[in-house]
Amino acid sequence: MDVNFKILGSSSSGNAALLQAEGASVLIDAGMSGKKLELLLNEEGLSAEALDAVFLTHEHNDHSAGVRGLSKFGRLPFFANQDTIQAIQPKLQKRPNWKVFETGKQFSFGPFKIHPFSVPHDAYDPVGFYFEWGKDDLFNPHSSLAWVTDLGYVPTLVKERIRQAKILVVEANHCAKMLEDDQKRPWSLKQRIRGRHGHLSNDNTFEMLESIEGSCWEKVFLMHLSKDCNDIQKVQDKFAGLKGQGSRFSTFIVDPSSAKTIPV
Ligand SMILES: [Zn+2]
Ligand SMILES: [Zn+2]
Repeated sequence: MDVNFKILGSSSSGNAALLQAEGASVLIDAGMSGKKLELLLNEEGLSAEALDAVFLTHEHNDHSAGVRGLSKFGRLPFFANQDTIQAIQPKLQKRPNWKVFETGKQFSFGPFKIHPFSVPHDAYDPVGFYFEWGKDDLFNPHSSLAWVTDLGYVPTLVKERIRQAKILVVEANHCAKMLEDDQKRPWSLKQRIRGRHGHLSNDNTFEMLESIEGSCWEKVFLMHLSKDCNDIQKVQDKFAGLKGQGSRFSTFIVDPSSAKTIPV
């Protein structure tokens, strides 16, 4: 079976994606209510009961709000590191079927090899994920996906994971100028967003991608766009100029309101 990858939500409306390969269906992050996630999964032709696992990057609500609702499926495993579990559990009445992984240590689930790696962000132990699956044969070609949202800068190790992925999901959180001019956010919050443990701006992400030589990308998804401090047109204009875009790989912008993907 070919891979099916669908981003279900992005940014402040909640982040989540469905990854299906070799008969396994998993969620990466679960940042909307369980009900909403169930609905979105149904739209993908999948009942929530048929989910095999949920993988969480960090405890922020826009990545974990669905844990409560989805934990009613008692056997459904939720993979997270210890610090993330400790931050989420007090907000829950029941204990979900937690599966603990260690940041930096590879593990397997179904057809997937998963490498959780540390990212600099203002959470307890935030991670990005690198998923690998398939063999080197015609029916199950080897493939990979990197999920890297919510980070203030890109350390070398993270860059290497980004480089290797065939499907890359990375944030383009804000336009630096729009964040600067924003009237709603206090200065302290602006400082946090653009700080070393905040979020990547359009320029940060563009420069990082430009600096990577020999990437394996087939598809690049730009997500976690701020609704107030970013603009799809601006992202489109900027990333249309990305070296290799349209020839070596295709780039898509994830609309923060509808989660629809818009080709650059
Ligand atoms: Zn976050
Ligand atoms: Zn987030």
